[in-house]
Amino acid sequence: MPADISQLFEETYRELRPRSDVPELRVEFFGFANINNTIRLREGKLLVRVSDLLEGAPDYVLKAIAHILLAKMYRRPVDRAHALRYRRYVSAQHMSRKAHLVRQMRGRKRIETAQGRIYNLESVFDDLNVRFFHGLLARPQMTWSRDHARNSLGHYDPAHNTIVVSRVFDSPRVPLYAIEYLVYHEMLHLRHPVKLRGSRRLVHPAAFREEEKLFPHFKEAQEFLKRLGTLD
Ligand SMILES: [Zn+2]
Repeated sequence: MPADISQLFEETYRELRPRSDVPELRVEFFGFANINNTIRLREGKLLVRVSDLLEGAPDYVLKAIAHILLAKMYRRPVDRAHALRYRRYVSAQHMSRKAHLVRQMRGRKRIETAQGRIYNLESVFDDLNVRFFHGLLARPQMTWSRDHARNSLGHYDPAHNTIVVSRVFDSPRVPLYAIEYLVYHEMLHLRHPVKLRGSRRLVHPAAFREEEKLFPHFKEAQEFLKRLGTLD
C-alpha cells in the first residue's frame, strides 16, 4: 500500500469539510470479488476499503476514489471530473482483464463465456436491452453453464452479478425467441430484486409477472421451456 493513500483521504476530507477536524482514518486495500470500494463511520473513525485491484493505480485515480467515497459519506455532490476519471480508469481494458484474472485465481468454479456455438449471450442481452429497457440495464457477466443442465435453465446470481444460461439452449433446434425469453426473464430479475414479505421471499412479485407477459412470444416460449426444464 502506498504510504500516502491515507494522506490523500485526509487532503480530500479537508477540501470537503474545511471546518471540521479530520477524524481518525483507516484505509486498506481489500480483496473484493469485483472492483468495489466502501466507506463506514464507526465510533468516530472512518474505515475505508479500496479494491485491491486498484492497488498501484495512479494518484489521480485514488484521489478520485477518496473524493467519491467522502462525498457519498457526507452527502456532498460528487465532482463530475472525479467521477469521470474514476469511471474511465475502471472501465479501461487492462482493469477488466485484471479483474477477470483475479476472479479466476480466486477459484470461481465457473468457466465464463458468453459466446456459444450458436448464440452469443451478450448480443442477446444487448438487443433485448434496446428493445425492452431503453438500453438502460447495465449488462452483468453473461455466461453459458458448463454442462447441459436441465434442472436450471437459467438464473441470475446477484452475488457475482452474473446471468447463467444452460447450454441446452445453445443449439440450432432452439428458436431465438426461446433464448430471448429466457434472458428477458433474467433481466427482469435485475429490475425486480427479491422482496421479503414476512419470512417469504417473493422471487417473482406481481410487477415482475406483469412485465414478463409483455414479451411478444411469452406463451410459445413458456411452452417450449416446459418441455426442457425449469427456470429460476
Ligand atoms: Zn425467475
